[in-house]
Amino acid sequence: MQSIEVLLGSRSYPIYLGHAISGELANAIGKLTPAPSKIVIVYDNRVEHLARAIAKEARMDAANIHLIDVPSGEESKSVLQLEHLWKRLFRCNADRKAIVIAVGGGVIGDLAGFAAATWNRGVRFLQVPTTLLAMVDSSVGGKTGINLPDAKNVIGAFWQPVLVWADVSSLASLPTREFRSGLAEVVKYGVILDSDFFDFLETRADAILSRNEDALVEIIRRSCLLKAKVVAEDELETTGLRAILNYGHTFGHAIESLTDYGTLLHGEAVSIGMTMAGHLSVSMHRWNQRSLDRQTRLLERFGLPTQLAGDAAKAIAGDRMIDAMMHDKKNAYGQLRLILPSRIGAVETVSGVSSEIVRDAIAACTVISD
Ligand code: NAD
Repeated sequence: MQSIEVLLGSRSYPIYLGHAISGELANAIGKLTPAPSKIVIVYDNRVEHLARAIAKEARMDAANIHLIDVPSGEESKSVLQLEHLWKRLFRCNADRKAIVIAVGGGVIGDLAGFAAATWNRGVRFLQVPTTLLAMVDSSVGGKTGINLPDAKNVIGAFWQPVLVWADVSSLASLPTREFRSGLAEVVKYGVILDSDFFDFLETRADAILSRNEDALVEIIRRSCLLKAKVVAEDELETTGLRAILNYGHTFGHAIESLTDYGTLLHGEAVSIGMTMAGHLSVSMHRWNQRSLDRQTRLLERFGLPTQLAGDAAKAIAGDRMIDAMMHDKKNAYGQLRLILPSRIGAVETVSGVSSEIVRDAIAACTVISD
C-alpha cells in the first residue's frame, strides 16, 4: 500500500492507495483520534457490497454503525438527498465525534462531504472513492457540494476529508465508459503539470485500458501527487493556481449544461473542452500543432471524444456556448478567463480572449450535419 500526504497544516491528511486493501481500512479507522462515536456510511447503491464490507470489518458495536444508501446518479447531488442525509444523521444521533464515510464516485463524495461539513457545524469525513474520476480528482482537495436544478455545484463548502482510501480493485466493476471518462482528468494532469507523466500515459496506454492494477495504481498515485501539490499551495482557490485544474472545464461545463447533462459524461465533455482549449491556444500562437495532435491522439486512444457531433453539436450552435462560458466561476469583471497550454506540462491563465477566436476553436471541434 502506498500513501501520499495532502499537506494542509492542521487539516493535512493521507491518501492510501493500493489494490485489495479494503480489509485494512478498519485499522486506519481504529487509529483516528478521537475515536469515532459512530460511523455513518453513505454509499452509492451500485456499490452496496463495498459499503457492507466496510461496515462488517469496522471494529465497532453494530448499533453505532449506520448505512445510508443514495440512488446512483448526478440527480442525487440535490437538496432533497441532502435533507434526507441530515434527517438520518439526526435520527441516528450523530454527535460531533461521529464520522461520515462516503463510498462511491464523485456524486457521493460531494454530497456526503457537504452533509458532513454542515452537520453539527462539521463532523469528520472519510472518502472511499470507487470511480477512477473520484480516485484521481474529486476525493482529494475538499470541494464538497450539491447542485440546484439549473446550476451545478453552486452550493458547497471546502471541507477536507480526514483520510482518502483508494482501492483500485473496486474499479473492476466500473462500466467502460465511466472508466474512460475518468481518464480525461488523468490526461489533464499530464498536459497542465507533468510532461513525463504525459509520456508515461502514451507508453502505458494499453496496460491502462486493460485495467492492469499496477498501471492503475501508478496513474492514480501520480495524479493525486499533482493534485495534492496544487491544493497544498492554493487550498481555497485564492491565488489562481488551483484554477489550472480547470483546464478544459470552461468549455466542458458549457457543453454539459447546454446538453442538459444527459448526453456526455463529465470526462467526455472535458476531453472535448481540452481539445477546444488546445485549438484556441494554437490559434493564439501560444502552443504548437504537434503538441495539440499528441493530446488529441492520447484522448482518442483512451476512447474519449474530441469533437461534438449530432444533437450535442446543435445544442451548442450560435453564441450559446460563449454565453454559457460567461457563467464560469473563473471569470472576473465580465471577462472570460481561460486555462491554455503553452507546452505539454505547462498552462497559463489567459484573460480577455476575443469571442471570435473562441468561436473558431469551438467550430474546429464541432461537426454539424444536416
Ligand atoms: P458518479 O459518482 O455519478 O459515478 C459514476 C457512475 O458509476 C454512477 O452510475 C455510479 O453509480 C457508478 N459507480 C460508482 N462506483 C462504481 C463501481 N465501483 N462499480 C460500478 N459502478 C460504479 O460520477 P463520478 O464520475 O465519479 O463523479 C462525478 C461527480 O464528481 C460530479 O458530480 C462532479 O461535479 C463531481 N466532481 C467533484 C470534484 C471535486 O473536487 N469535489 C471534482 C470533479 C468532479
